[in-house]
Amino acid sequence: MDKLRYKNKTLKEQKIMAVIVAKFGGTSVADIKRIESAADKIKKEVEAGNQVAVVVSAMSGVTNKLVDYCSEISPMHDVREYDTVVSSGEQITAGLMAMALQKIGISARSWLGWQIPIKTNNVHGKARIEHIDTAEIKKRLDINEVVVIPGFQGITEQRRISTLGRGGSDTSAVAVAAALNADRCDIYTDVDGVYTADPRIVSNARKLHKVSYEEMLELASLGSKVLQTRSVEMGAKSNVPIQVLSSFGEFIGSDRKGTLVTKEEDIVEQEVVSGIAHQKDEAKITVIGVEDVPGVAAKLFKPLADAAINVDMIVQNISQDGLTDMTFTVPRTDLERAKKVLKENIDLKYEDIAITENVAKVSVVGIGMKSHAGVANTMFSTLAEKGINIQVISTSEIKISVLIEQDYTELAVRSLHAAYGLEDQQKIM
Ligand code: ASP
Ligand code: MG
Repeated sequence: MDKLRYKNKTLKEQKIMAVIVAKFGGTSVADIKRIESAADKIKKEVEAGNQVAVVVSAMSGVTNKLVDYCSEISPMHDVREYDTVVSSGEQITAGLMAMALQKIGISARSWLGWQIPIKTNNVHGKARIEHIDTAEIKKRLDINEVVVIPGFQGITEQRRISTLGRGGSDTSAVAVAAALNADRCDIYTDVDGVYTADPRIVSNARKLHKVSYEEMLELASLGSKVLQTRSVEMGAKSNVPIQVLSSFGEFIGSDRKGTLVTKEEDIVEQEVVSGIAHQKDEAKITVIGVEDVPGVAAKLFKPLADAAINVDMIVQNISQDGLTDMTFTVPRTDLERAKKVLKENIDLKYEDIAITENVAKVSVVGIGMKSHAGVANTMFSTLAEKGINIQVISTSEIKISVLIEQDYTELAVRSLHAAYGLEDQQKIM
């Protein structure tokens, strides 16, 4: 009995070490030097007593190259074979990373998606993870071996390789962290965190120490392309804290110098506004003079959805003489396809279609907005002062977005950033 308790205790003591998933993005494994520098960081985590699973992207540029090869064969290539080709970039990095770790005395082994296995549905090219078998990974972590997993890939029920959509390694990492019930998922990238605005536009943007999953989802889907949106959704669902940090600095994840994406309840000082996001290259489409009767919106948007066109910011005008206008935005890259669908696949009478290219969406995001009035007013009066015309407005509980002329994007982001007092005080002085 005594012995058993003693054993339990040591097991518990062992449990004190954290289980960490460390993901390295493309620029963080861009060449052998970078892979070796990533391996050094992993070594430090291991030496601090942590169990580490590593998820790697393809070396930067590699996936683009592989995608191009596929298009060069045929624009209509088989999507299953596309996955066979584009998943290979991550396989290379996983093997190299395991070697780099071994070279510095860390025991490591690569595990490809099919070997674990990471099971996905069979939507090739943008598959979703359904299940990760952690038995082998856990066994390896328990003997202090680093497990190196290629991101982006999995295996379908038909035993074909699948990929998770561009940027999908983030989602792989968070999924592995969730399956392992990890203490944290560190996303090493080329920026050192999530900022109050794009630092390339706002020079005194401030790094956020913590941001909620909800806010990050808005920021991620609004053009702050630090994390794949799916990965944030998965983090929120499974409550895995995700830390975004730079692989170029001296710090490791356990130093906690990056931005932690976490539960709203874990954020003590909630900001009314935590960031200004922007999304350029949008297009505005107005379908003029449609009948104002039930079913019109469904008839208009279903064919667009079927064509996988990402419709955003929908506004319906007040009707006059039984007719109304419907305005919505689409990414500019989808504009031609959207026009085609409107012309050919829509069973709906309308008078005309008006299109405005060169529009951008600028959004103010913050969970504190739920309980503070006046946020919208500050936004509108700031834009008015700068003479920026608002074309469309849309809101959610934690976000206000406006559509403006693209040329004014930088001015709008800078003015709003200042209006909400988001500057890094140290950078002002
Ligand atoms: N290599 C893939 C891509 O470039 C996945 C990733 O890096 O997240 O999209
Ligand atoms: Mg990425």
